[in-house]
Amino acid sequence: MKCRHCSSELKHTFVDLGISPPSNSYVSKDALKEAEKCYPLKVMVCDHCWLVQTEDFVQVDAMFASDYAYFSSYSTSWLDHAKNYVEKVSSKFYLNSNSIVVEIAANDGYLLQYIKDKNIPCYGIEPTHGTAQVAREKGIEIVEEFFGVNIARSLAKQGRQADLMIANNVLAHVPDINDFVKGFSILLKSNGIATFEFPHLLNLMNNNQFDTIYHEHYSYLSFTAVCNIFDFNGLAVFDVEQIPTHGGSLRVYAQLSDSGSYKVNTNVLDLKKKENLAGINRINTYQGFQKQAEDIKNNFLSFLNKTKNDGHSVVGYGAAAKGSTFLNFSGVRADLLPYVVDKSIAKQDKFMPGSRVPIMSEAQLKKDKPDYIVIFPWNIQDEIIQQLTYIREWGGKFVIFIPSMRVI
Ligand SMILES: [Zn+2]
Repeated sequence: MKCRHCSSELKHTFVDLGISPPSNSYVSKDALKEAEKCYPLKVMVCDHCWLVQTEDFVQVDAMFASDYAYFSSYSTSWLDHAKNYVEKVSSKFYLNSNSIVVEIAANDGYLLQYIKDKNIPCYGIEPTHGTAQVAREKGIEIVEEFFGVNIARSLAKQGRQADLMIANNVLAHVPDINDFVKGFSILLKSNGIATFEFPHLLNLMNNNQFDTIYHEHYSYLSFTAVCNIFDFNGLAVFDVEQIPTHGGSLRVYAQLSDSGSYKVNTNVLDLKKKENLAGINRINTYQGFQKQAEDIKNNFLSFLNKTKNDGHSVVGYGAAAKGSTFLNFSGVRADLLPYVVDKSIAKQDKFMPGSRVPIMSEAQLKKDKPDYIVIFPWNIQDEIIQQLTYIREWGGKFVIFIPSMRVI
């Protein structure tokens, strides 16, 4: 296979997590008798441009099935993040009723609702019908498409160029990263800016976040790799911030290479230096990650076996992609973890992909009063612990495995 950005031959494995179905393909009761489509989950690193990327293409259509169940608005901390972001950029870049804001992967309108509240014209681009409909119910216009050069050209032709384009947690999820980034250089006004948020590869490596790897997540991005990809596609990075979302993300500010007027902030050079010092440009930095992932899997299995032998009960919390990857890589089934609790009604009474661990509502948790709850989405652990604080009444404890095992 060739690198998705620079087309060099990919020779080095970063981590091999075995095989699993797409992480959001929850199994309904009726489908339990059917086989699931599994794909290898192997991540490679390009030793030319340092883009870390999944090895195999899964058909995009197969992954974004119509019952795709992720609605951003279910997470209150994510809503707060979106609101704070809107406050910041709308004043920093003087957005007003004459501006146009476009969000790529607008999901259920979790962010654009705050832009709309400020009477700033906006629209979203979102390929998933279910979430797009929810955004429309909030009065937000949605163009129901995958973003790339074609749709950017068509919107630009209609005079719908943007002063600000927002891409939160989508850059890593696009198979053709060059086509996606190039779309921004087409749809931005000459003095427009684009911001991108994505989990930072350095944090993934330093904090054992192997469970953020799944098929729908094609790229694992260092700042160095992103700057290369942007340069190649007509965008210039002029600022970067390190933010805490998803276990440590970057927010990158970019403008058009040929007409942007923002001065390059010293943060840009500083972060490039930091990555260089961390060895992002050396292949041996990427080796050894496999063992980190396996150590965590072994801790998880030891914990589940010991809990079972001691006669204690344990359930999971958070039926999202992280839990899918973690359960499948660990080979855990319902005999060791009887169910996973999730707030999202769309997921309840379904089964985790691959592992087929049942997904239950919080009512089941209150009824069973388990001794331990394993929190899979460690990035929102504070929110979950606060929400489930009542488990203390029966002496329940929380367990988190990443970056290392902790019982709380
Ligand atoms: Zn490459």
